[in-house]
Amino acid sequence: MEEDNKFIVDTMLGSLARWLRILGYDTIYERKIEDWQIIKIAKEEERVVVTRDRGLHNRALKSGLRSIYIDDPGDIPRSLALIALLTGIRLRVDFEKTRCPLCNGELMKVSKERVKDKVPARVYSLYNDFWVCSKCGNVYWVGSHWRTIEETLKQAREKYRELAKAFKVRVSA
Ligand SMILES: [Zn+2]
Repeated sequence: MEEDNKFIVDTMLGSLARWLRILGYDTIYERKIEDWQIIKIAKEEERVVVTRDRGLHNRALKSGLRSIYIDDPGDIPRSLALIALLTGIRLRVDFEKTRCPLCNGELMKVSKERVKDKVPARVYSLYNDFWVCSKCGNVYWVGSHWRTIEETLKQAREKYRELAKAFKVRVSA
C-alpha cells in the first residue's frame, strides 16, 4: 500500500478533491486549469491524475502518468473506493495527516486558547481539539458534521470490498 500518493484533480471534481484532502492526501484542484497544465504538473510532481474526462484520461495515460477515470462523480463512496483500489489510499481519517479541504494546506493542532476569538462561543465551550490551516488560517474541529463524514467513509469501505471482489473475479476469469 502506498501512503504517499499525491493527486491532481480536474475542474469537474471539486467535491472529490475535498475528500482526498480530508483523508490526508496532497491534492491540487483549481477551478481554472487547462488540461495541458494538469498533465505538466502531474509529470513534474509525480501526481496521480483523477478525471471524469475521457480525453484527459487517455492523454495522461499516453504521457506515462497514472490516471483514474471517475465515471460517476456524484457517487463519492464509489469514487473513493475506486481510487483506493487503484492506489492504496486509506479510507479512514488520520488527523495527523488531514489537509485543509479548502486550500490543501497542512493543518496544525493548536491550543484551545489560540482559537478563542475565531470560533463561535458555543463551539469553543463544546470542543477541546482544534486545528488551524497553515495556509488559509481556517479553523477546524470535529463537530456535528463528523458523523456524515464517517458515514460516507463507511460506505466507501463497503464499496471497496465489493469492487475488490469483482476485480479479483475478473482477473482470475
Ligand atoms: Zn486552508
